[in-house]
Amino acid sequence: MSKRVGIIGAGVSGLAAIRCCLEEGLEPTCFERSNDVGGLWKFSDHTEEGKASIYQSVFTNSSKEMMCFPDFPYPDDCPNYMHHSKLQEYIKTFAQKKDLLRYIQFEVGGSVFSTVMSSIALMLMFNCSMSFQCYGLLQVCLGNELFTARMFASHFCSSLRKEPVFNDELPSRILCGLVSIKPSVKEFTETSAVFEDGTVFEAIDSVIFATGYDYSYPFLDETIIKSRNNEVTLFKGVFPPLMEKPTLAVIGLVQSLGAAIPTADLQARWAAKVFANSCTLPTMNEMMDDIDEKMGKKLKWFGQSQTLQTDYITYMDELGSFIGAKPNIPWLFLTDPRLALEVYFGPCSPYQFRLMGPGKWDGARNAILTQWNRTVKPTRTRVVSEAQRPHPFYNLLKMLSFPLLLLAATLTFY
Ligand SMILES: Cc1cc2nc3c(=O)[nH]c(=O)nc-3n(C[C@H](O)[C@H](O)[C@H](O)COP(=O)(O)OP(=O)(O)OC[C@H]3O[C@@H](n4cnc5c(N)ncnc54)[C@H](O)[C@@H]3O)c2cc1C
Repeated sequence: MSKRVGIIGAGVSGLAAIRCCLEEGLEPTCFERSNDVGGLWKFSDHTEEGKASIYQSVFTNSSKEMMCFPDFPYPDDCPNYMHHSKLQEYIKTFAQKKDLLRYIQFEVGGSVFSTVMSSIALMLMFNCSMSFQCYGLLQVCLGNELFTARMFASHFCSSLRKEPVFNDELPSRILCGLVSIKPSVKEFTETSAVFEDGTVFEAIDSVIFATGYDYSYPFLDETIIKSRNNEVTLFKGVFPPLMEKPTLAVIGLVQSLGAAIPTADLQARWAAKVFANSCTLPTMNEMMDDIDEKMGKKLKWFGQSQTLQTDYITYMDELGSFIGAKPNIPWLFLTDPRLALEVYFGPCSPYQFRLMGPGKWDGARNAILTQWNRTVKPTRTRVVSEAQRPHPFYNLLKMLSFPLLLLAATLTFY
């Protein structure tokens, strides 16, 4: 009998989790408290307590080739950076085409969720068999509650995270004088704000606190995710290391310097393999040592921060290597040099992690070799005559320029 997996949340992490469980022959059931898939990309013009949402003017800041499900490229004519409504359309199409909707129970939260959690407790404490209606393994895909928290930030701003999130437009707004950089606020008077350097901003009508957000998992014993000093201690950002058996996985909590969808996909693939017993985790001590080592690196590269920040490519390669899906570049150079050049020197697009090994997608090679075509396609909205098109030799030269430069630099310095 296949193992049953309870998945909480049907945002992009939850959808990735459902699909990866199916790929591993597991039996997923996803519980979503809203009435649709997409999570925060499902725009709503009113705020609901506890529900994250984007705002009306949001466009993605990851490009379409870098933020797709690795076997599901966006349509050619889709803009590279898209309005949230287009992303939601893509997410829904993915769920429909991959036939994931029938595994989701909508408009369930609290009560079903506590049933799932108590089943988990049974599983953990008594190692219960799967014969009764018990969701033995759980993936938590709840996303971040960034914007809802911001709405209420004024009540507890001093205790919130202060991870800076920069909008691309900020520098130009500063240059235009529309945004002024100030030190911390010292105090508010009835109509003004006094800053620590003594300057005062007068005649204020409204104040918006954009001071950060907090991570919280109220439905779990805090110590499962934060096993020490209130720090998030998850092995590779996914598995709580102190559990007797690896029956809980957290998908989508890591903040890598890359896009969320491919990261969640790889996390979910690994988690599903662990649940299916085709991958094993190291011992508790080894996991804790690894967490300590990562904490040190995180401090060095990302400074004091309470989130699970990580470098995208290193992280993806690491997860990929656990499941045999990390692209083998030397092998590619020997067997398919054209593809190898694009993989090695081109963008680390999500298709690379479905190119070989378990979960391989037959369309991955073509998707990698055509990623630039899909990138330029939406910008080609008029017919250009042959004479104006760049010569194919120009593209070849462009592709070879970096390796040639690298070779020249190596020869110069060594
Ligand atoms: C403004 C903004 C812009 C962003 N832009 C980008 C971008 O350009 N590129 C990028 O890669 N990432 C971006 N992100 C990051 C974003 O978090 C990810 O893209 C992604 O949507 C996270 O998906 P998720 O499934 O983990 O979480 P969510 O999308 O938040 O989904 C969580 C789901 O869980 C459900 N849920 C929560 N609690 C319960 C419960 N108790 N019971 C049942 N269901 C529950 C929720 O209803 C929701 O459907 C952006 C985020 C924001 C806020």
